[in-house]
Amino acid sequence: MWQAEVRVDLDAIRENVTRLRSGTSAELMAVVKADGYGHGMLPAARAALDAGADWLGVCTLDEALTLRRAGITAPVLAWLLSPGLPLHEGVAADVDLSAASEGQLDEMIVAARRAERPARLHLKIDTGLSRNGATVADWPALLEAAAKAQADGLVEVVGVWSHFAYADLPGHPTIDRQIAVFHEALAMVERAGLRPRQRHLANSAATLTRPDTHFDLVRPGLAVYGLSPVAGERHGLRPAMTARARVTLAKRVPAGTGVSYGHTYTTERETTLALVPVGYADGVPRHASNVGPVRLAGRNRTIAGRVCMDQIMIDCGDDPVAAGDVAVLFGSGVDGEPTADDWAEAVGTINYEIVTRFGGCRVARVYD
Ligand code: PLP
Repeated sequence: MWQAEVRVDLDAIRENVTRLRSGTSAELMAVVKADGYGHGMLPAARAALDAGADWLGVCTLDEALTLRRAGITAPVLAWLLSPGLPLHEGVAADVDLSAASEGQLDEMIVAARRAERPARLHLKIDTGLSRNGATVADWPALLEAAAKAQADGLVEVVGVWSHFAYADLPGHPTIDRQIAVFHEALAMVERAGLRPRQRHLANSAATLTRPDTHFDLVRPGLAVYGLSPVAGERHGLRPAMTARARVTLAKRVPAGTGVSYGHTYTTERETTLALVPVGYADGVPRHASNVGPVRLAGRNRTIAGRVCMDQIMIDCGDDPVAAGDVAVLFGSGVDGEPTADDWAEAVGTINYEIVTRFGGCRVARVYD
């Protein structure tokens, strides 16, 4: 018997990848970083590959090596690499690496020598997000150094890529500006004599709404897990994660009862309080105090009082509720339960954070 669980529907992941695949002629990289956005990196990766994903995308070298150690042989790109990492292990394990500076390129050259094989690189240009990626000013020098290293047989430049700042607002003017900068960067790549096979720019939002950004490869993350990055648009995706818990205790209390730490909620009349055994140690944001939605005893209700480390309280009024009943925090929404989008709106965050934190905490993950 379970007390609290995060259920992950791998069929939903497969369906979502199939749906994304059918919308593009580009190759598809399923982004499975951050433990597959809380869904479990390895099961999510395998489900995505089953459904036709060509590539896997991760942030860290560790994540990439974990995929390899699990026997996954599909192309993998790792893109967030601070100095001093054992990059030669990535090169030896056939992991593609992202370079955004001459310093990173130098480390990859050292790694290639140590692994005794060329490092496969995706050069990253900052087209306007101002995060990872070489600035336009630094791009020519990076290309020149990469072309020399390629001529020396130390690296193979297989990709050029960038990332959007505003893809979740499909008409935002920065999107066209970033595409234009990307085209200029690609023209310089060609002039430097480099012929990367994979030019890639599109995250989920751009994959779903801007076919002009697909180039050779799209890189959806959130949509793989069935959530939409574009507010109010579902795009036929099916959320894969459900978070639920069984009521530990239900009790009648009189009107005027202060509930949970600090008594930020007080019962208005005699009522039944249900204790649901999940708290911020399980991924429930503390900001969900008095606003987080939960489906229990046939209705969606709001958390009563503060979220504790391990517990939340729900005011069920006179509705029948008993220990052992199932409270659904969020799911696909098909049975009327709240969704990760509802949680994100209630606590002032994004659906990405809701699923990532629930999947990454104490609650056991189970797979359908
Ligand atoms: N590409 C990069 C570089 C990312 O950092 C991410 C996620 O943050 C993605 C692609 C996938 O983005 P999304 O989950 O919005 O599809």
